[in-house]
Amino acid sequence: MLLYNSATRKREEFIPHVEGKVSMYTCGPTVYHFAHIGNLRTYMMEDVLEKYLRYAGYDVTRVMNITDVGHLSSDADEGEDKMLKGARREKKTVMEIAKFYTDAFFADCEKLNIKTPDIVQPATGCINEYIAMIETLLEKGYAYEAGGNIYFDTSKLEKYYIFNDFKEEDLDVGVREGVEADGNKRNKADFVLWFTKSKFDDQELKWESPWGIGYPGWHIECSGISLKYLGEYLDIHCGGIDNAFPHHTNEIAQSEACIGHDWCKYWFHVLHLNTNSGKMSKSKGEFLTVSLLEEKGYDPMVYRFFCLQSHYRKSLVFSWENMDNAVVAYNKLIARIAALNPHSGEAVDTEAYETLRTGFVKAMDNDMNTSLGITALYDVLKAKTNDATKLALIENYDTVLSLSLLDRAAALRQKEEEKKAAEAKALADAAAADPFVAEILAAIEARKAAKKERNFAEADRIRDELAAKGVTLIDTAQGTTYKID
Ligand code: AMP
Ligand code: ZN
Repeated sequence: MLLYNSATRKREEFIPHVEGKVSMYTCGPTVYHFAHIGNLRTYMMEDVLEKYLRYAGYDVTRVMNITDVGHLSSDADEGEDKMLKGARREKKTVMEIAKFYTDAFFADCEKLNIKTPDIVQPATGCINEYIAMIETLLEKGYAYEAGGNIYFDTSKLEKYYIFNDFKEEDLDVGVREGVEADGNKRNKADFVLWFTKSKFDDQELKWESPWGIGYPGWHIECSGISLKYLGEYLDIHCGGIDNAFPHHTNEIAQSEACIGHDWCKYWFHVLHLNTNSGKMSKSKGEFLTVSLLEEKGYDPMVYRFFCLQSHYRKSLVFSWENMDNAVVAYNKLIARIAALNPHSGEAVDTEAYETLRTGFVKAMDNDMNTSLGITALYDVLKAKTNDATKLALIENYDTVLSLSLLDRAAALRQKEEEKKAAEAKALADAAAADPFVAEILAAIEARKAAKKERNFAEADRIRDELAAKGVTLIDTAQGTTYKID
């Protein structure tokens, strides 16, 4: 499989550290508010990556943190803790907020068919691991104490900026956002590993440490959790593109300084979902959540389909018009699948199956091109092979795409059958209530049978006989109805 690696800025052949096994780490949500659908685009594309690696035969272990402490207003670890702000907004404790929004996050994931990672670790559960790492960093001279906090010294590294598109000026963003710069830092890029002193000393969650009572910085949690569960050689680290700098850059700095060798080989970054007016936000205007989509009548699967139609390395614009187009396309796709016969009793044509499957594999092997993966689905529908083969392929692709294709098609088929049954019942009820209607319906059935036997003379005779009684027959694609003059 070719995968774009942000660290080398190239598409590379994916080769894990241990043959057949993949260790995968995902930066999880900061649980101070609901996830917006932009956040969920990132988790969805990571979900596809995990599922495709499993599909390709790898034994994947995926770990995700839950940020419930230490993520400050600015990613350059300045300002107030987001969790504390959330708790104050809702007049609850930080732990109450964390529990509520963690549950909400996984409920959203479930609606979008995003699998829960094998290990989910709240940041507050690994404090000892961060303390041990910080001690090592201090011993090795990569960290220093200033003004009560412990900082990572970026000047000690040969190379700090890994993802080339980022540079020191990007650190000014936090300051522009109304957050004051930290005067304790020796270098502009240095970052906090452990806080004991902060202007915001009403921090709710604090722990004992060799440097006093305090709390960890945001970046150390991902390094600590990843090293704890996935060891010193990580295959893939994922996140949204905004995480590349400073968060991932800092993770690399502290992890490699701590373990003394290269750490993660492939960096997978998902580009942002934006609105027509720009960046997606949790504070201004309409806050786009999965619940809002549902309130407006959209099936969350349509949002997944919308995201999968474009490549994860392209930014994507969300609009209600784009969603409406996705509804039409998704419903058409489901209708075409529903038209296939699941009870044909035919055998799967293994040759056709393997030939068609190559199309899907080729698309996904090419830096996870989900858009072409979906095209491969349409290729199946168009192919000259039997329904059993088509359905088997759709089921196979959907283990990766997770668009609920067969479930939704079965639901549609059932809905259509129920509609037909209701119509038949309405006719039968009308017939039971009125002998004349019963006579007309019996005549319609007799005419249908005559036509089937190609006895058109008899069919015409029945129609004329009804006409003489003032009944006009109307033939439609759905069958024959009538009108009494
Ligand atoms: P957070 O909960 O803020 O830590 O973000 C959770 C994940 O969503 C991170 O991987 C972010 O990089 C990612 N993310 C943030 N904004 C967007 C966006 N507009 N589109 C896609 N991913 C995003
Ligand atoms: Zn992280």
